[in-house]
Order: sequence, then C-alpha cells, then structure tokens
Amino acid sequence: MKTVIVIGGGASGLVAALTAAEDPDNRVLLLERQQRVGRKLLATGNGRCNLTNTGAAPEHYHGEDPAFVRPALSAFGPGEALDYFHSLGLLTAEEYGGRVYPLSDSANSVLDVLRLALDRAGVEQRCACPAQALRRGKKGLLVETEGETLQADAVILACGGAAGARLGGVMDGYRLARDLGHRRTGLYPALVQLVTEPEYPRALKGVRAESVLRLCRGERVLARSRGELQFTETGVSGPAVFDLSRAAATGGEGLTLRIALLPLDADEILPLLGARRAQYPELAASEIFTGMLHNRLGRMLVKYAGVNGNAPLRELTDESLRTLSRACVDFRLPVKGTEGFDHAQVTAGGLRTEEFDPATLESRLVPGLFACGELLDVDGDCGGYNLQWAWASGRLAGRLGI
Ligand SMILES: Cc1cc2nc3c(=O)[nH]c(=O)nc-3n(C[C@H](O)[C@H](O)[C@H](O)COP(=O)(O)OP(=O)(O)OC[C@H]3O[C@@H](n4cnc5c(N)ncnc54)[C@H](O)[C@@H]3O)c2cc1C
Repeated sequence: MKTVIVIGGGASGLVAALTAAEDPDNRVLLLERQQRVGRKLLATGNGRCNLTNTGAAPEHYHGEDPAFVRPALSAFGPGEALDYFHSLGLLTAEEYGGRVYPLSDSANSVLDVLRLALDRAGVEQRCACPAQALRRGKKGLLVETEGETLQADAVILACGGAAGARLGGVMDGYRLARDLGHRRTGLYPALVQLVTEPEYPRALKGVRAESVLRLCRGERVLARSRGELQFTETGVSGPAVFDLSRAAATGGEGLTLRIALLPLDADEILPLLGARRAQYPELAASEIFTGMLHNRLGRMLVKYAGVNGNAPLRELTDESLRTLSRACVDFRLPVKGTEGFDHAQVTAGGLRTEEFDPATLESRLVPGLFACGELLDVDGDCGGYNLQWAWASGRLAGRLGI
C-alpha cells in the first residue's frame, strides 16, 4: 500500500485526490488548512462556478512556458472534464462564449458532487490541518503538520496561489516547494480590477458597457480585449478588463486604457450626432448620446470631450461633434496599476514549470513530489479556463506518473 498525501483541498487537490484514490493500492490523505475543503470554489463565477470553457486550448494560458499545459489539457480537456463531472452526477449548461456552469447555477453543486465522490472513494480528509513543512525522508517524503509528522510515498502539492486572499489564497505552496529546492517566478495579481485616475470611473460607479479595450503605452498597444466593462470607485472591472489585467500588472508604469464605447468608427458616429443636432436643436448637449449610451456615460463623455453640456445642440460646431465622436471610441483612462491579491481571481506566475515534467507533473528535482493547479506558473484567461487547468492538472498529478 502506498501513502499519497495531497496538500490542499481546492479544485485541483480534490480531483488529484479522487484520481489517486482510483488505484486501490493507494491510501490517500487530503490535508486542508481551512475548516472545510473547496472554500474558494464556492465563490467562483460569482457563486455560480464557471467550471470550464468549451474552447479551453493552450493559447488561453500564460506563464514562462505556455506550452507546459499541453499534455494535461490534451489528456483532460473541457470535453473530458464535462464527462467526468457528468459521471459524478453534475448537470451543466453552456452559456455565451463557451462558458459552462452547473445547471443549478450554484457553485455548491460542483463542490457537493466532488465531496460525495471523495467520501465514496475513501479519501481521508483532515481539515484545519495545514501542512507546515515538507522534507525528504529516508524513504519518500515527510509532511509536518501541527504535532505530527506524516510519511508519504508521494506528495501532491495543490495549495493554490496567492490570489483570492480572503478565500484562502496563501503563499504556503511556494514555501513548501522551496523547502525542497524549487524556485518560483515573480507573482502578480491577474484577472483583477484596474486602478485608474478615479475622476470619471467614480462618477460612473456601477455603469456597465460593452466595450473594446486597448492597453497602450503611448501609441503602442500592449493588449486588447472586448466585452463587458464596469466602472468602479477606483477604476474599471469586468471580464474585458480582467483579460487585460495580466498585461497591466506586468507592464510597468505609464500605461493608458483606451476604451471604445460603441462598436463603430468615429466616422460612423459623426453623422449620427449630426442627425441628432438637426432633429433636436434645442436639446442640451449633455443629452446628445441619449439612446446610444447609458445616460450617465453619455453625459460624462460630453464633459470629458470638453463640450459645454448646457449649450443647446444647435450651438455645437462640426468640430465639437468630431471631438465627441472621437471621445466615444477613444475614451482614455491613465492606469495607476491593478488591485492586489485580495481582489485577484488568479495568480500570474508560480513554481517554475521547467522544474516539473509536463507529461506527469512530477518534480524533476524530487522524485515522488507532484504539483498542480494555480501554484504552478500557469494562469488562464477569464471564462472558466483556470478551473479547467485545475481539473486537468489535478487529474494528471493524481495519476502519479503512471
Ligand atoms: C473570486 C474568485 C472567482 C473565481 N471564479 C472563477 C471561475 O468562475 N472560473 C474559473 O475558471 N476560475 C475562477 N477563479 C479561479 C479559480 O478559483 C482558481 O484558479 C482555482 O481555484 C485554483 O485551484 P487550486 O486547486 O490550484 O487552488 P485553490 O482552489 O485555491 O485551492 C488551494 C487549497 O489549498 C489549501 N492550502 C493552502 N495552503 C495549505 C497548506 N499549507 N496545507 C493544507 N492546505 C493548504 C487552501 O486553503 C485551498 O483550499 C476564481 C477565483 C476567485 C478568487
């Protein structure tokens, strides 16, 4: 009988433990530092858990070696992940952009089927039991918890990353791996809100807009995205912003977010504004975007463009209309940075992947040590890609190289 210790009862650790338990020769022990397993999972997708994306492919993942994800994803891609969850009794529904959620719309359902399976598979769970140290034994590896040293033939590190600190994101996994000689890259918050000059966002707090975004240094575009943007007290949030946040976190200072608030060119918007002026010459300029944009957003753009909102439309010159149509497709917010790990959904960076075999996720330095999930230097786009990586890598690590 082999003893397998899984450190971390989050998304990747739960699947790793279940997979290891499929081999009757394994005794599987799952250590979780929080009071219960899967706490972060419950908060995913705003409590709905966007558990995978049907389009999950290597190009949606980032890190020093994005190709590292290939073997895990080819063996256990979104199709296999869905088959797996369906076999555990979960019903799912696919939504816009290939995002998959439990049909119940409740993240609880995902965790519940995993916990039922864990009990059935005979995985021993120890909650409120953080692994404090990890070292080589005479045979295998030794895991120290408070008051006990556990001997293992194999250890799977599934401690997650630093993101979502309030939900249990910690630095433990990096430290435990370091004890055995592993190194990590720099760590950055990703899938996180951007902090910008607050004047306009604060005034628009809560307003959402379908947008096309460019993150720029001067005229150089560092990253692009499109989708929903939401204005907040300190900047901008929402899926389209999350997709740029990795580039913003790692891109240094002097960045500007350039926002197109309508899916049209300035040349196409100009005649619409001209028609509005002709149709309603006495209307206040602040109302020129009525029916085109959210009211508050329209009024703010007029202010941003430096046009007097109290003036009747008939007083607006052609040049003013041109300025307004340009503002609509190139509304600029100087970026100050990103929110921190507390607010981030994922950690960019992690354990150096060159020190792990992508075909097995076994350490190249320490035989019998495996790592999976966000702890590794892999992060995915917004839309179910990160949980897909957690399941796929947990599945691969749980096979213990077999
Ligand atoms: C608010 C929020 C929403 C998100 N929404 C989505 C979404 O909808 N779709 C998506 O794909 N991704 C989403 N993510 C990202 C996704 O949740 C993570 O990428 C994923 O959970 C990572 O899985 P993991 O197993 O690597 O780590 P985690 O799920 O973080 O699990 C790690 C576990 O290890 C435990 N642990 C840590 N140290 C120790 C120790 N020393 N001893 C024992 N246990 C330890 C932790 O307590 C934790 O339970 C979201 C993240 C957040 C924060």
